[in-house]
Amino acid sequence: MDKRKEIINNKLNELSKSKFRSSFHLRKYMVKYIDEIGLNKIKTHAYDFVNKNLKVRPINDGKQTPTKNHPVFIAQHACGCCCRGCLEKWHNIPKEKELSDNEINYIVSLIMEWIIKEYKSNKNML
Ligand SMILES: [Zn+2]
Repeated sequence: MDKRKEIINNKLNELSKSKFRSSFHLRKYMVKYIDEIGLNKIKTHAYDFVNKNLKVRPINDGKQTPTKNHPVFIAQHACGCCCRGCLEKWHNIPKEKELSDNEINYIVSLIMEWIIKEYKSNKNML
């Protein structure tokens, strides 16, 4: 297993031990949405949301990520990537720092890995 994949798996494991983080799951309509648009498009949306809502800490930090509608939003809560406060707490990324490309790639990889696992378990593919 490559190093990046290992880091992501370890983090997902750590998150799964949090009662709050592990309470988030994809709803049926979100799984249906993934079926409709495909995982590549979901990934594009993940980059859009991270760039728009997390790259630079917004004024409403802590309130920028809804808990419904888009699978990426749910994944962000499940992965501690919902706001800059949570990114600092779970991923040691200082709140006030602008996110680097590396950090953005890491966040999106984590989110996508979580979504793929949830998606597969919904489809009984695990
Ligand atoms: Zn948060």
